[in-house]
Amino acid sequence: MPPVADRHMIFPFAAIAGQEQMKTALLLNVIDPNIGGVLIKGEKGTAKSTAVRSLAQILPDAERVRGCPYNCDPGGRGGRCPDCAEAVTAGKELISERGPVRVVELPLSATEDRIAGTLDIEHVLRSGKKRFEPGVLARANGNLLYVDEVNLLDDHLVDLLLDTAAMGVNYVEREGISFRHPSRFILVGSMNPEEGDIRPQLSDRFGLCVEVRGEKDVTTRAEIVAGRLAFDADPEGFSKTYADETKKIRDRVLNARKILSGVKADKELISAASRISLYFKMDGHRADITMVRAAMAAAALNGRTNADKEDMAAVAPMVLSHRIKKRPFEESGFDAEELEACLRDL
Ligand SMILES: [Zn+2]
Repeated sequence: MPPVADRHMIFPFAAIAGQEQMKTALLLNVIDPNIGGVLIKGEKGTAKSTAVRSLAQILPDAERVRGCPYNCDPGGRGGRCPDCAEAVTAGKELISERGPVRVVELPLSATEDRIAGTLDIEHVLRSGKKRFEPGVLARANGNLLYVDEVNLLDDHLVDLLLDTAAMGVNYVEREGISFRHPSRFILVGSMNPEEGDIRPQLSDRFGLCVEVRGEKDVTTRAEIVAGRLAFDADPEGFSKTYADETKKIRDRVLNARKILSGVKADKELISAASRISLYFKMDGHRADITMVRAAMAAAALNGRTNADKEDMAAVAPMVLSHRIKKRPFEESGFDAEELEACLRDL
């Protein structure tokens, strides 16, 4: 598998049958990366990786500084790497270039050095100048970072990814010498819980979590099989038949991003989020904030500028399910009926 997914050779996002919650969770994060990423849990063969990789077809283009290994934003949004900062201070103009936002994949074998990058201490001692070998977090800046089988990655590495995603900066320090560069990305992890779970302290730091299961509906299952067969027989031709549908989703996402800053969540909706969080015994305020943000992105995805109770009902399970403390012998602590009752009372 290449580290950067080729947007033309993957199964079309628009052709993925069913799995609505997973697709929505991914799109909401593309619309508002501040939602904090997605953790996708599901058994093998539920199109988890396909959905994430095929997002490359939906992701909008972005501006970057040409030649910068850290993909700095030309306007300085999210900060600048030392090279770009130095160029700006020296009065040089940064050349901007437009390109697609990519899906960068993190190989499971990646070490901390390969993820964060390495500082060449010997070079500093010899020349007095810093030399930094960029890692995955440099490539991830401005892109989407995908970790398949995130549950098999060492805890301290997952921690590093979550910290960086939250701060938007990669900071490397060795023997008193430090280096930092912007690293803002959408973090998407997927895992099969049968192969071991992820610690709750880590999973609850993902903004959203969705559980995908094999479709139970015969028609949808048949549609999945037919789609797969048609794609394998003629990937290009099959993708072409979905070109219009792909463009439609892309346009919806672009429009949603455009109108997001004007989307309002009124006081009642904000208190609804707080009441739901209290009802489900959430720690801290992260769940409330994420619920409101995700509801606003959901409204934008549907072309509306007012987030309402329905938006909240749609996103609440994705915000709550991985944060609810499970009682012993319980498979999932989330109860859809309890949420419904909670929203009805508001
Ligand atoms: Zn730069």
